[in-house]
Amino acid sequence: MKKLNVFLGALVVATLGMASAQQFLTIGTGGVVGVYFPVGGATAAIVNQANVGLRLTVESTGGSVFNVRAIQEDQLDLALAQSDVTYQAYHGEAAFEGEPFEGIRVLMGLHAEPMHLVCQQDANVESFRDIADLRVSIGNPGSGILNTVRAMLEVFDMTEEDFTPEYLRAAEAPDFLRDGRIDCFFYTVGIGGAAIRDITATADVNIVPLDDPELADLIEAEPYYAFATVPADTYGNQPEDVTLFGVKALFVTSIDLPEEHAYAIVSAVLQNLDTFTATHPALANLTAEDFVTGLGAPLHPGAERALREFGLL
Ligand code: GLU
Repeated sequence: MKKLNVFLGALVVATLGMASAQQFLTIGTGGVVGVYFPVGGATAAIVNQANVGLRLTVESTGGSVFNVRAIQEDQLDLALAQSDVTYQAYHGEAAFEGEPFEGIRVLMGLHAEPMHLVCQQDANVESFRDIADLRVSIGNPGSGILNTVRAMLEVFDMTEEDFTPEYLRAAEAPDFLRDGRIDCFFYTVGIGGAAIRDITATADVNIVPLDDPELADLIEAEPYYAFATVPADTYGNQPEDVTLFGVKALFVTSIDLPEEHAYAIVSAVLQNLDTFTATHPALANLTAEDFVTGLGAPLHPGAERALREFGLL
């Protein structure tokens, strides 16, 4: 893809007789019903308008694990990815056991991604353990969702044999829930993600609190997990604040991305922060601190330079 992009870039330059070449870069995101996709789109729009010789395009993908692998294999240049997946890739753990990606680098830390567990109200699920014996979608292969659910199962001493697992994409799971083909689905996604907003507004479902002591222990043990509060009325049938266990979204790339490209991307976003944070409710409360904390892997040197110039480091 990279080669093709370079080729197409060269072609455009040759055709238009432009003075300098544009570099084409692809951003891996997630399902179109998630937050990665619009955030990737906002980043592309900002960077493309900045006229820094970069042309960013967005691709909908299966999610974090797919994205990080694709960067590792040179199939993608940039991506959104969960902090747990990024950390595990860097250290060769979980889905990356035996295949560490030491060259993974972070451009910026972004929004919180709480684990949303959405269930049919009549399934009476009040906490994580209640999924036992139910039909539950735990995310498609390649998603960060599946990765995080597996870590959660472990601390509850549960396995995929304790319930009937389905491995649905975020775009499919809500319809399966609505049609009664599953009892619950998990989705690690920024607060206010379209898929969760739609299903909670139109079906008899509930968001299950994920604040058990087992999860507090897990947060204590690993640097990339955190609790997040979803403010009351963010979703339908959610009259009170709800505490959810979760991760954080990161903008990642490879150490092979040229320093000036990384610098240009991060600088453009920081210069247009108001536009960027206005693109999705999940970004609304983004603070300067979020850009540089909970990163899971080292910052790319170009990003570091930009973040330093903006006084964030
Ligand atoms: N965190 C999800 C994943 O990695 C994607 C969330 C989104 O698309 O916003 O699978």
